[in-house]
Amino acid sequence: MAQIAVLVETEAGLTGLGVGGGGRAGVHVIDTVLRDVLVGRDPADIEGLWAAMYRATLPFGRKGVAVWALSGVDLALWDLAGKVRDTPVYALLGGLRNATIPAYASIGHEVRDEVDRGFRHVKLHMPRPSPGFAANVEVVRRARERLGPEIALYVDAFLEWDVETTLALADAFVPFAVRWIEEPLSPDDLDGYAELCRRSPIPIAGGEHEYGRHGFQEVVARRAHQILQPDASWCGGLTALRAIFDLASASGLWVVPHRGAEVWGLHAIAALSPAPLAESGRPWVTWLRGEPRIEGGVIRPTDAPGFGVELDPAALR
Ligand SMILES: [Mg+2]
Repeated sequence: MAQIAVLVETEAGLTGLGVGGGGRAGVHVIDTVLRDVLVGRDPADIEGLWAAMYRATLPFGRKGVAVWALSGVDLALWDLAGKVRDTPVYALLGGLRNATIPAYASIGHEVRDEVDRGFRHVKLHMPRPSPGFAANVEVVRRARERLGPEIALYVDAFLEWDVETTLALADAFVPFAVRWIEEPLSPDDLDGYAELCRRSPIPIAGGEHEYGRHGFQEVVARRAHQILQPDASWCGGLTALRAIFDLASASGLWVVPHRGAEVWGLHAIAALSPAPLAESGRPWVTWLRGEPRIEGGVIRPTDAPGFGVELDPAALR
């Protein structure tokens, strides 16, 4: 799951920076396949390059590591496009619709000082392996007690439950005003997800482990999620994320990108979301400079060109 930095350099001397995933395996995909697709091509043709990279990785790609690598390249191309035009990426997407974006704290299963730090939205990760029905309900009850009645509360099950467990817990969570249950099932179980969407009293979220326009098209067509959570660094970059926002707006679904407070999703939220909400970023990515911070429970994208971040040379040494 390690994140990778991807740099795209042009003959004119400009550099685009993106962050993808896949660790050494992702770097290998770039070095052995994607680099050959890109060298000598016009970097402004982002859609064309996306299609060419997708085609070149199709036999072993489509989902997983190859798309994580492709995502980093795509984001680097968008960063480059912003730098070429000396404008932030959100301006390339139509402009700054949301200058101030509420953020949610993505935490373990204990509420600590999030409310004191200004958060109005908090998401719990439920214990893994599941400690059983009563202990799961107790985790949510305790969180609601600590947060008070005003703070929005969300729950992430990270692929740990089944349909019946999720429905029973959803009923039990209703008194604690849980706003969504995230990824209770394997991302392959779209039938199970569709059943949850029909029967759960709490909306069902997912998509951080889904890929591309094609993957999300299937999720939407099967009515498998009510909230879509693509990760810009995993799902196919901003090109895919923008397409997913389009799909969602046509279907009346809410898009809340995974780790959306990172600039890679933040610019899309800033430009495209009618109901902006950004998940706090990966705290272990410590090697970027220029990232906006969550302050008082909100985050504001900067107006620096591209995504507005660069590699921190000190952290890389
Ligand atoms: Mg999650």
